[in-house]
Amino acid sequence: MLSADSSSAGSLRPAALPQRAQVVVIGGGVIGTSVTYHLAHLGVDVVLLERDRLTSGTTWHAAGLMATFGSTSETSTELRKYTRDLYLRLEAETGLATGMRQVGLIELAIEPGRLEEYRRVAAFNRHCGVEVHEISAREVAEMWPLARTDDVLAGFYIPADGRVNPVDVTMSMARGARQQGARIVEGVAVTGVTRKNGVVTGVQTAQGDIEAEYVVNCAGMWARQLGELAGVSIPLQAAEHYYLLTEPIAEVDRNWPVLEDPANYGYFREEGGGLMLGMFEPVCAPWRVEGIPPDFSFGELPPDWDRMGPFLEKTMSRIPVSAQVGIRKFFCGPESFTPDLSPVIGEAPELKNYFVAAGLNSIGILTGGGIGRLMAHWITAGRPDMDVTGMNIDRLHPYQATPEYRATRTVESLGMVYATHYPGRSMRTARGAKLSPIHHRLVEQRAFFRDVSGWEGADWYAPPGETPEVGELSWGRQPWYAHWEAEHHACREGVILMDMSFMAKFAVQGPDAGRELERLSANEVSAADGMITYTQWLNADGKLEADLTVTKLADDDYYVVASDTAHRHALTWMRRHFAANDARAFATDVTSAYAQINIQGPRSRELLAAVTRADVSDEAFAFRTARHIDIGFARVLCIRITYLGELGYELHIPAEQALGVYDRLTQAGRDVGLRHAGLKALSSLRMEKGYRDYGHDIDNTDTVLEAGLGFAVALDKPGGFIGRDAALAQKSAGKLSKRLVQVLLTDPEPLMFHAELVRRDGAALGYIRAASYGWTLGGAIGLAMIESGGEPIDQAWLDAGNWTVQIGDRLWPARLSLRPLYDPANKRIKM
Ligand SMILES: Cc1cc2nc3c(=O)[nH]c(=O)nc-3n(C[C@H](O)[C@H](O)[C@H](O)COP(=O)(O)OP(=O)(O)OC[C@H]3O[C@@H](n4cnc5c(N)ncnc54)[C@H](O)[C@@H]3O)c2cc1C
Repeated sequence: MLSADSSSAGSLRPAALPQRAQVVVIGGGVIGTSVTYHLAHLGVDVVLLERDRLTSGTTWHAAGLMATFGSTSETSTELRKYTRDLYLRLEAETGLATGMRQVGLIELAIEPGRLEEYRRVAAFNRHCGVEVHEISAREVAEMWPLARTDDVLAGFYIPADGRVNPVDVTMSMARGARQQGARIVEGVAVTGVTRKNGVVTGVQTAQGDIEAEYVVNCAGMWARQLGELAGVSIPLQAAEHYYLLTEPIAEVDRNWPVLEDPANYGYFREEGGGLMLGMFEPVCAPWRVEGIPPDFSFGELPPDWDRMGPFLEKTMSRIPVSAQVGIRKFFCGPESFTPDLSPVIGEAPELKNYFVAAGLNSIGILTGGGIGRLMAHWITAGRPDMDVTGMNIDRLHPYQATPEYRATRTVESLGMVYATHYPGRSMRTARGAKLSPIHHRLVEQRAFFRDVSGWEGADWYAPPGETPEVGELSWGRQPWYAHWEAEHHACREGVILMDMSFMAKFAVQGPDAGRELERLSANEVSAADGMITYTQWLNADGKLEADLTVTKLADDDYYVVASDTAHRHALTWMRRHFAANDARAFATDVTSAYAQINIQGPRSRELLAAVTRADVSDEAFAFRTARHIDIGFARVLCIRITYLGELGYELHIPAEQALGVYDRLTQAGRDVGLRHAGLKALSSLRMEKGYRDYGHDIDNTDTVLEAGLGFAVALDKPGGFIGRDAALAQKSAGKLSKRLVQVLLTDPEPLMFHAELVRRDGAALGYIRAASYGWTLGGAIGLAMIESGGEPIDQAWLDAGNWTVQIGDRLWPARLSLRPLYDPANKRIKM
């Protein structure tokens, strides 16, 4: 029943539409409903507003595949497991069945590269508690008699996976939410948000406004447009997504497992006595780049037979009978995809208390329960309880929401779901979005580029006469490894030049800048002018929020440098904290204003001396000092610091003078054997030295002590810092049973990339979070978070164990160390 509402003149306010709530969730798809369900279970006063009817966006037509297998992200695997368990128990709670049936899932590997990938994934997934069996082609045929198996190398069978009914899941969660007091109002579209002083204060609708402390945008493919109304950038784009339903087939059994055949772009399951053939074609079609129609409900798109025909033929070749029976429906519906195939979740950098959970890349059903739980926890506790560095909305940038970027990148995204995920593969579309001022010089040097947060980052350099091409991707050594190795040694023995212009750089200024940065930083950062300090920023729980350097230029002038992936997180962290304290401190993003060229290696001082009149001797320019020096016509901020473990300097150059400085460096470099080095060398050099990389080997679930960064914590500094009490409490509690350790394989042959299990006396106690190859140490090297299960972890405990690393099915002996295996005494950086 509708009743008139005095606060919104002329409009009709549904009786169920409250004036205020703690949280307003926008969008009644699987995600918004799950967020509402979980908030309600936490006792939050929550209202869900759905423009039309629940599930009317994308959720109603999802295929309902449930897969816990397939990811080497711990967060993603845990989200999937939680979701499966929730869908299994919902009926008992709400009385509404979810249609969850654990018929099992089989992933086919028909190429050696994919077999290698799935063996690695299987080992990791088992470690996370997923039951996975590698099965033979014959066993696949027994479970799926209609499938052609002549080319199958292996199947990976997950008995507890299967299928669910997405509409029933949503309705069951909606009922569960209502039972806990949540209000769900259909037929009300949010038309805007209200805000005050950078904080969201509610939503606007044609039927009246609602005041709220938090707003959660779960509007699926509409989320980007809805975000724009609040000035929030949400780079996601809808794309066509297909499945085909056949007429009934007598032999088909509804209890057969779901079958995925990624090499042929397809998946199969029973539907209505026939088959459903779903597809992830390698080249896909964005839909409505200009904007999703506001009235698109329970909608279908006309299938593009011409475009899809060749892909469909390939998919059908796995189940030959599918090409012989009648087609009941070729369904096309839109689903949203993000630039890197990870969801967009978390609090918007632009607007406090405005959360987003959208961009599910076709796994919104199978992760929906977990995402709802994570979001509810995040909103109520103030921070997430899982590693979200790869999913946080603040990893993305506004340029990625431009129509051209979305149109270009989305063509590639959908197909990536079923591609073999070879290590180091970079997205190939929407390239060239950001170029360093010296980019064209690096092209002349034959750089091979990869996408680094939108920048073209030089990965490695081909020698004269060769073209920088990667060739065929694989899990083994590539022909260009020799160039990478040479760059690595050039840094250890001579001098290299590395373009790091993509680093995030901030000028932090004002009378309170020092005080505020001290409050945020675990290390002491304001002691002396012209000093750089490596520090972490912690939250009140003592968990890591950022890992960066702070350079003090003057009492009221600081220079903060963070990695590209932490760009917006670090900036938002500063701005929010400064504002909360009413501080006279201002953070300005100067990333584009400065190029960053690093010269590193034992001969870097010689090179620097050749291009400047400044005294760069060790006495005059000590390790960790920073000062402005002349190079040609430029005034360059030169910082003596290293991330590679050698004597070295970072040159921060006004962007418009970068070319001039680069030319002088390379000219003088001829006399000292200067070599260009890329990001592959960066990773191998820093990994040998055990230097951390936030978002790769350390994240928001680690404390600074667990991360092995206690040396950078000034527990006793005057005034303390955010997270100090938690850090002190952990330190006082004694030795840790969870620690990040360096892992070196003693056999030079095998390679590590990510997610390989680390075993002590056979038992898996952790996994490799990030890895590279130690060309100086002579083997694959990585960082792993080890959890002993209670025993204090120190070097003696590490030495007492028999350590191996599992790569696929094989075990390789390893050496573990708490101190850096390369130059533990820091002699080389203080030369
Ligand atoms: C063909 C196909 C097959 C798929 N198969 C699977 C599968 O097997 N497994 C799997 O996990 N995933 C699958 N997916 C993906 C899955 O369907 C999505 O990831 C998921 O449904 C996304 O849920 P959502 O809640 O984010 O979006 P939606 O379901 O679109 O919900 C968003 C809601 O927001 C509402 N809304 C929008 N704007 C407003 C506004 N201004 N005010 C109020 N409400 C608003 C919309 O009406 C809509 O109901 C498939 C998708 C497609 C297209």
